[in-house]
Amino acid sequence: MPACQKRPYPTPAIAARVLRRIRSEHPARGEVGIHPCQTCHAWHLTSAQAAARNRWTATALAKLA
Ligand SMILES: [Zn+2]
Repeated sequence: MPACQKRPYPTPAIAARVLRRIRSEHPARGEVGIHPCQTCHAWHLTSAQAAARNRWTATALAKLA
């Protein structure tokens, strides 16, 4: 039974890679960062609105690349 509505990614590196692809192919979706989930213990993509409340923005992603 899934704990989250969002699609889970097992590592931040994978989430960051997917994020980069989405940002180039689907910029209108507005996803700009990634964040660790305390519910399912995976990583999710996050929108600009959510990123304003945490540190998982594109700046943080640069450290993972
Ligand atoms: Zn989750």
